[in-house]
Amino acid sequence: MSTAPEHTPTRIAQHDARTLAIDWADGARSLFDVRALRLACACAECVDEWDGTPRLAADDVPADVAPIGLHAVGRYAIQIDWSDGHTTGIYPFARLRALHGEASPSAANGDGNGERLRS
Ligand SMILES: [Zn+2]
Repeated sequence: MSTAPEHTPTRIAQHDARTLAIDWADGARSLFDVRALRLACACAECVDEWDGTPRLAADDVPADVAPIGLHAVGRYAIQIDWSDGHTTGIYPFARLRALHGEASPSAANGDGNGERLRS
């Protein structure tokens, strides 16, 4: 497993009600929309183990879904307990860092003010 600074979080904390913040050892900070993170879950319940087909429909995830617990998995991942009862999602740090661009509200729209609708 990678122990590169860009895959090593120094701090993981709720930034606000809808945003999880991760500070990385290389000085970068990632802000994740928590629902986007829930939808990005890659566990066997959410993504077909065999062919990678997504099994999770966006409509199945409540708009106000939020993490209620974070647990370290070794030194390479976190497991998130979600308010919708889903607890099997494991997020490797390397994957979180790779997701950074798509899930970050600040990257999507400067004010980070809620969800953006696709037009
Ligand atoms: Zn899952």
